[in-house]
Amino acid sequence: MGYDYDDSNIFAKILRGEIPNDTVAENEHALAFRDISPKAPTHVLVIPKGRYVSFDDFAANAPPEEITGFMRLCAEVVRAEGVSLDQGNGFRAITNAGNDGVQEVPHFHLHILGGRVIGPMLL
Ligand code: ADP
Repeated sequence: MGYDYDDSNIFAKILRGEIPNDTVAENEHALAFRDISPKAPTHVLVIPKGRYVSFDDFAANAPPEEITGFMRLCAEVVRAEGVSLDQGNGFRAITNAGNDGVQEVPHFHLHILGGRVIGPMLL
């Protein structure tokens, strides 16, 4: 069983350099950029560079080095935004998956939100 990745999704276009993005940080395996419609002072999306539809696809199928690269970039973003627990007031990390999760863009992404108290069910 596989996950059907659609190369025409907007984050695939960002990764191919076809549309611009406001990059916050990047490494070999992942890219972090500001959400175009921010819901909080910090609203950064972190995406793997590989073709993964959703959190479950990424968690099940990505090689360990891609998972580590993704997670380390998340940590870098949290620090760069000044919201890590050892320097700031914290943050919320959210991923929406599929129909019931109300996922709009079918390329796995983690929302990192902070800079204010994030209420319930923001996304
Ligand atoms: P939802 O829109 O329900 O939060 P997702 O979890 O799939 O669904 O989130 C997609 C996110 O991508 C949204 O927060 C949206 O503002 C953001 N987005 C869409 N297009 C772009 C873009 N070109 N650059 C940056 N962020 C984008």
